[in-house]
Amino acid sequence: MLLAEQRRLLCEHGRMTVETGLVIGTSGNLSVRAGDLVAVTPGGIALDRLEPEACPVVDIEGHLVEGELQPSSETPMHLAVYTATGTAAVVHTHSTFGTVVATTMTELPPIHYNTMLLGGTVRVAEYATYGTPELAANVRAALGDRRAVLLANHGGVTLGDDLPQAFEATRLLEWLCEVYVRARAVGEPRTLTEEQLSAVVRRASHTPVFPRRESSENRET
Ligand code: 13P
Ligand code: ZN
Repeated sequence: MLLAEQRRLLCEHGRMTVETGLVIGTSGNLSVRAGDLVAVTPGGIALDRLEPEACPVVDIEGHLVEGELQPSSETPMHLAVYTATGTAAVVHTHSTFGTVVATTMTELPPIHYNTMLLGGTVRVAEYATYGTPELAANVRAALGDRRAVLLANHGGVTLGDDLPQAFEATRLLEWLCEVYVRARAVGEPRTLTEEQLSAVVRRASHTPVFPRRESSENRET
């Protein structure tokens, strides 16, 4: 079986998206890339009911290479992201708070510094019908150099160097959207400035090392 480990990981993380409430029913899809091949979840199937053999393998141009079932309808979007970014895993969900923001905003205002873990302010891609080349193009355009993008009136997409990373990015995106929506219910959330966001990146690249205290035997009394 081609990409056996990648297809096993698709099932594991597909189950996790359902268990953590990020998707319901047959919504959402995941993929992982290895060279010119991509293992992707099949279309129209609940992500907690997958078996590795049921996950099709396509090439980067979208030809079916292995598997009985048809690949996810969003395969063109996954392939567009791979072609544009060189990333290795993509997760798409219709998570609740992500969809709320995607339905009302043109970007997720950066009110928490962990936005920078997704590469900066997350934009909302223009609406297009699910599964179309138009949606794939809109997602690609809005993504830029970020690790996440929201899809107008639809959901969200995150990227990672592997599936665990793309999955964690989806959880983080959902958390950021939930914090934003809940903050709006309390008052007008403060948005971090460009300077405050740049300072976060600088701080992350220069983590100070705390000097170790000498052991009591070495310390003068
Ligand atoms: P698939 O079942 O074809 O993967 O579609 C689900 C979805 O989220 C469409 O946007
Ligand atoms: Zn979708």
